Amino acid sequence: MNKTGKNYKATAVGDVRAKGRVELHNELGLTGSEISINELPPGFSVPFVHSHKRNEEVYIVINGKGRFYVDGDEFEVAEGSVVRVDPAGQRCIAAATDSSIRYICIQTEAKSLLQFTQTDGFISATTKPSWLK
Ligand code: ZN
Repeated sequence: MNKTGKNYKATAVGDVRAKGRVELHNELGLTGSEISINELPPGFSVPFVHSHKRNEEVYIVINGKGRFYVDGDEFEVAEGSVVRVDPAGQRCIAAATDSSIRYICIQTEAKSLLQFTQTDGFISATTKPSWLK
């Protein structure tokens, strides 16, 4: 499924398990964030520790379990875990030895958010989908 309209772009990322990592920045033409969908098989780790110059990251574990490392702290993560890391945080993530881990990583410039949800969005009175009566 790939579809593009005046104000949107939709894509299907395919088999994340086989690809290991899918980056959506180019795929969707993102202008305010980088979002990646990642999967590590059991026993595998991202093979380096890294930090960022300007971007904070939010890791959302959507399946499986593993371990997270930030600045010397190590802790368990599993489906439903959400971790925010400051740009300077030295980070790494690994799958558990007996489980894969699938997670979404959202990268945005730290302190760039000026408004959100109810201060940025508004309900439209001029259009609606077929399923709304
Ligand atoms: Zn990063």
